[in-house]
Amino acid sequence: MDRGDSDELQAARTQLVSYSARLLADGLAIGSAGNMSVRAGDLVAITPSGIGYDQMRPEDVCVIALDGTELDSSETPSSETPMHLAIYAATKATAVVHTHSPEVIALSASRPELPAIHYAITGLGGPVRVAPYRTFGSAGLAAAAVDALDGRSAVILRNHGAVTYGRNLAQAYDRALLLEWLARTYRMALSYGEPATLSAAELDEVTAETRRRRYGERRSVRP
Ligand SMILES: [Zn+2]
Repeated sequence: MDRGDSDELQAARTQLVSYSARLLADGLAIGSAGNMSVRAGDLVAITPSGIGYDQMRPEDVCVIALDGTELDSSETPSSETPMHLAIYAATKATAVVHTHSPEVIALSASRPELPAIHYAITGLGGPVRVAPYRTFGSAGLAAAAVDALDGRSAVILRNHGAVTYGRNLAQAYDRALLLEWLARTYRMALSYGEPATLSAAELDEVTAETRRRRYGERRSVRP
């Protein structure tokens, strides 16, 4: 499998295969739906189009430049490559996860956003917007996703799925799981009536408290 990859790229290939298997196991996508990528410097490793996650091998992962030039593509890069690249261009993302997970898709069809019914949503930057519907793989979808990501690390795509990003694949993936959990929790809350939501001030206080505690942890491990 040595294709002159850097260690970073080889690690990205292996990671993408193992997280693809998790995507299926966790019910965040079926078949070959959804896609994931990891940025390694000026390059992006991205899952191929049309290969079932249960059959994907590290050498099937495609490598492209940030401008979309295909560098190593025995397979066809994901159809959502334009969206991944647009997110790398607009944010500090090092990994992007795109799911077709049922709870967010159900929500996207009937709500304009996922409101803050639990404070854990601060981990995504706050209430998560639903981006307008655009055809899969289009530049329009990439632009709509980037717009709706403003100040967030997650976006829901109407009648389509969701996208999260992070400083590595583990964080981006955990955010996809958190988003799906929050959407499910919101749906459950709706069954009781219109749920109470947290205000912007309450969410700001959660973010401040999280920062204080992180700072405290760092201080406590100092020699
Ligand atoms: Zn999709």
